[in-house]
Amino acid sequence: MPHCRSCQSDNLTQFAAELAMHFPGLEGLTKPIVLVHPKLMICLDCGFAEFVVPEAEKEQLRRGMYPAQAAGALDRHREEQLQ
Ligand SMILES: [Zn+2]
Repeated sequence: MPHCRSCQSDNLTQFAAELAMHFPGLEGLTKPIVLVHPKLMICLDCGFAEFVVPEAEKEQLRRGMYPAQAAGALDRHREEQLQ
């Protein structure tokens, strides 16, 4: 039985969720938000919540944070397709 990491209660419930992730900093205001649909595990005693960002959405966050790297990866992908 999993326990809350904050208060050790076993009163945890999993919820489906939609989260709009905003990139940090002032420049984050100009980037599009990323919608994430994680399964939230919420402690119904203290309110502590945790979740894992799904792979595809995690990749969107990574690309938003490191556009230069993402562009490089994309170029490599294109080159592979051309060969
Ligand atoms: Zn708790």
